[in-house]
Amino acid sequence: MLKKRKSMLKTEELKTNISLAPYTYIKIGGPAKYFYVANSSDDISEAVSFALSNNLNYLILGLGGNVLFPDEGFDGLVILNRASSWQINEEEKNAVAQSGVILKPFITDLAIKGFAGLEFFANIPGSVGGAVAGNAGAYGHSISEEISWVKFIDPEGEIITENRDFFEFEYRSSRIKKGYRAVILEVCFDIYHKNSEELLKQIEEDEALRKGKHPEYPSCGSFFKNISREITAGKLIEDAGLKGFKVGDAMVSDKHANFIVNTGNATAKDVKTLADHIVNVVKEKTGYDLEREVVIIKNKQ
Ligand SMILES: Cc1cc2nc3c(=O)[nH]c(=O)nc-3n(C[C@H](O)[C@H](O)[C@H](O)COP(=O)(O)OP(=O)(O)OC[C@H]3O[C@@H](n4cnc5c(N)ncnc54)[C@H](O)[C@@H]3O)c2cc1C
Repeated sequence: MLKKRKSMLKTEELKTNISLAPYTYIKIGGPAKYFYVANSSDDISEAVSFALSNNLNYLILGLGGNVLFPDEGFDGLVILNRASSWQINEEEKNAVAQSGVILKPFITDLAIKGFAGLEFFANIPGSVGGAVAGNAGAYGHSISEEISWVKFIDPEGEIITENRDFFEFEYRSSRIKKGYRAVILEVCFDIYHKNSEELLKQIEEDEALRKGKHPEYPSCGSFFKNISREITAGKLIEDAGLKGFKVGDAMVSDKHANFIVNTGNATAKDVKTLADHIVNVVKEKTGYDLEREVVIIKNKQ
């Protein structure tokens, strides 16, 4: 149990009052009261233990590709996850990655070694922990499909390992995304042999496709979930005439309507006001209820 053990972490090792905007893709967010960079799973455990024993709010941050922090910041400890090693077990046909591993170099390494399973997710800007917590996906595939087991810190501070079913994965969602306060430490993925050149070509082509489709401005990626593969949030927002609609510096991208972009100095309040407006207009014009994909962080979690 982490909770009962006194953390080795000292208050002096924590940075204070650190702006969160640079650690997010959308470049929005006020300061974290406390901020700690974790370079290993042990560091993450120490930080969580510290937060639990000091009754601090805590939050783990990966690459910041899917979060919107409030303008007033985060009243607690933000643990920036840079635990970034992985191991490929050729005989067992699996790969175990620490949760701070960035998807692109990890999946490219698998491809170079002729291992497939995760190639659809290579260009998703995210860490393994963030991708698993949100069940990231592309091309009709979700990362949860390849998970064998996950090692994590549970809400009581205990380190446990569970298989995929425990996390109740759904389209862009999981038990964690729905509020179960777990911190992922390691994930084991099933992999299989495939031609390396084919895999690398697929990753490269996907990257080029994304470059063409995605806006140049900072964003959190797709803001809303698709209703189905046929009825996409982007099409509904575009059909509702909202491309280019702005609140402050937050704008519905005119390149991809499901991206809310920061055209300069957008605030979290601008983004949330715009998102609410999109939901209302789409409901009024099409009857569909859009559900958020982006995680909106509260000042106190
Ligand atoms: C340009 C662009 C394109 C994108 N394209 C896609 C796409 O094609 N498909 C897709 O699914 N998403 C896409 N996204 C969204 C985003 O990249 C993914 O959701 C990604 O998986 C987020 O990972 P992250 O490490 O950045 O998570 P973060 O944004 O850092 O965190 C997201 C949430 O996960 C939680 N979390 C992070 N790490 C852990 C952990 N170790 N344990 C428990 N919880 C954790 C955080 O607390 C937070 O609540 C895109 C985003 C951008 C900016």
